[in-house]
Amino acid sequence: MILDQKHLRFQKLCRQFAETEFTKELLDKLEETGDFDWDIFKKMSKYGFCGVKIPKEYGGAGGDYLSYAILVEEFARVSPVLSIYANTSNSLGGGPLMLAGTEEQKQKYLPPVAKGDEIMVFALTEPGAGSDAGGTTTRAEEQEDGSFILNGRKTFISGAPMADYCIVFAKTDSSQKGSRGISMFVLDMHLPGVSLGKPENKMGIKGYPTCDVIMEDVHVPKDALVGKKDKGFGYAMQTLDGGRLGMAAQGVGIAQGCLEEAVKYAKERKQFGRPIANFQAISFMLADMATETEAARQLVYHAAELKDAGKTIVIVTHSMDVVKELCDRAIWIYDGHFKMDGKPEEVIEAYINQIAIDHQNQKVNSSSLKHETKVMIDDPQNYSHVSKNGSVMIRGWRLFFDDEVKFRIRIGNKDVPDINPETRSDVYAAYMDVCAGNMSAEEIGFNKVINVSEYMDEVKDGRMSVTAELVTGENNILSSQSLTLFVDEE
Ligand SMILES: Cc1cc2nc3c(=O)[nH]c(=O)nc-3n(C[C@H](O)[C@H](O)[C@H](O)COP(=O)(O)OP(=O)(O)OC[C@H]3O[C@@H](n4cnc5c(N)ncnc54)[C@H](O)[C@@H]3O)c2cc1C
Repeated sequence: MILDQKHLRFQKLCRQFAETEFTKELLDKLEETGDFDWDIFKKMSKYGFCGVKIPKEYGGAGGDYLSYAILVEEFARVSPVLSIYANTSNSLGGGPLMLAGTEEQKQKYLPPVAKGDEIMVFALTEPGAGSDAGGTTTRAEEQEDGSFILNGRKTFISGAPMADYCIVFAKTDSSQKGSRGISMFVLDMHLPGVSLGKPENKMGIKGYPTCDVIMEDVHVPKDALVGKKDKGFGYAMQTLDGGRLGMAAQGVGIAQGCLEEAVKYAKERKQFGRPIANFQAISFMLADMATETEAARQLVYHAAELKDAGKTIVIVTHSMDVVKELCDRAIWIYDGHFKMDGKPEEVIEAYINQIAIDHQNQKVNSSSLKHETKVMIDDPQNYSHVSKNGSVMIRGWRLFFDDEVKFRIRIGNKDVPDINPETRSDVYAAYMDVCAGNMSAEEIGFNKVINVSEYMDEVKDGRMSVTAELVTGENNILSSQSLTLFVDEE
C-alpha cells in the first residue's frame, strides 16, 4: 500500500516530532528513573497526538485508524515507551468510551483525555485473571439507587500511577458463569477507597509506570457504568482488538528502529579492512530484515484500512514475530559489542525484553480472545471440489457477540436462507483445544446443508464462492470468512 498525500504528511509530522523531541537526554532519563515525563506528554497533547483517533466533536483530531497506526509506528521507531504516551488515550483509555459511552459520558470524559489534560487507563487484568480475563473476581454490587460498590484488585495497570480515570471491569452478576455478567465502569481514581500498589520494576518500557489498582468499598455513581450492564466483557474484547492494531504498529516501529541501528553499525564497524556491511552474510541479513519489516508494515496498514472500513482484523502476532527475529539478527551483527558498547544495544535489549512479554501475551490473546467467525465445509476427501448435483455441509460459529449480531452466509451474491444458529457445545469443545480459556458457551453455531444445484447461477468459471459474515444492523460487517469451491460436472 502506498500512503496518500494526507497520510504521508502526517507520517512526516510524526517522524519529525519524534526525531526532534525524543532526545537522547530524555530517553536516558526515562530509562534511569522510570518516571513519567509530563513535559513531553504535554507537547504531544499540544500537537493533537493524544486525540488523533478521538472524534472531533469530543475534542480529538478525528483521524482514522491508519493515522493512528502511523503515529504509533513513527513514535516507536525512536522510542517504544514514548509511543505508549500517545497511544493509550486513542485505544485502551478512550476506546471503551468511544465504543459504548453515552453522549454525556463522551462529552464529559473524552475532551480532557484527547487534550492530555487528564489520563484514562484500562484495567482488566487481575492477579488470578490474565489471559483468562473472563475469570474477573472484582465485584460491583448494585445499590438500591442504581449506584455500585466496587471491591477488587487489578494488576499490571499501565499508567495507573498518574491516571485520573480508569476503565474497570467487574462482575455484576455472580450467577452468570465465566465472561458473562461482567460490566464496564469508568472509575474516578480520586475516590475514597481507591489505592495503588507498588510501582513494578519492569525489564523494558521504563518511563511509563505500571502498578496495581486496589478498590476497597469504592462507591461509584450509577452513571459510572459504561455500556450495557453485564455486557462488559464484549466491550473489553472489542477494545483490545483496536489496541492490538496499536501493538502491531508499535512492533513495526521497533523493527524499523532496530534495522536502522543495525545498518548504521554494520557500515561503521570494520573487520578485515572493510565495513562488515560489505560481507554478504551481513548484507543479506540486513536485506531480509528490511523485507520483513516492510511486509509487517504493509500488513499493519492493510489491517488499519480494514478497520477503517468497519471490518474485524486479526494481525498482531506477525509484527511481533518480525521484531523478535530482527532483534536477534541485530544482536548477531553487534556480536561482542552488544554487551560492551553504549546505548543502541541497551535499547535493543529493552526491545527484546518487552517484545518477549508482548509476544507471549499476544499469542494467547489473539488466539483465544478475539471475536471470530469461522466457516468450514465438511469434506471427507479434501473438499474444495463438489459435484454439481451434490451437497455440502457448511458449518460456522462465532464467539463473544451480543445477540444483535447476526450470521449471514452468501453463495456468490445470493444469501442462503434459514441458517438457524444454535448454541454448539461440540464446536466449543473443539475450539477449547486452541483457546484453553474459560469461555462460557457463548458461541453460536450452525450446520447448513446446501444443495449445490440450487446455486448454479452463482457458479462462475466452475467455482462457487462461499462467504460467512457477522453483521450488525443493516450491513455493518464485523468479520467475514470466505472459501472457494470447485464445482465438478459429475
Ligand atoms: C508491561 C505490561 C503492561 C500491562 N498493562 C496492562 C494494562 O494496562 N491493563 C491491563 O488490564 N493489563 C495489563 N497488562 C497485563 C497483560 O494484559 C497480562 O499480562 C496478559 O493478559 C497475560 O496475563 P498474565 O501475565 O497473567 O499471564 P498468564 O495468563 O498467567 O499466562 C502465563 C503464560 O501461560 C500462557 N498461557 C495462558 N493461557 C494460555 C492458553 N490458553 N494457551 C496457551 N498458553 C497460555 C501465556 O501465554 C503465558 O506464557 C500488562 C502487562 C505487562 C507485562
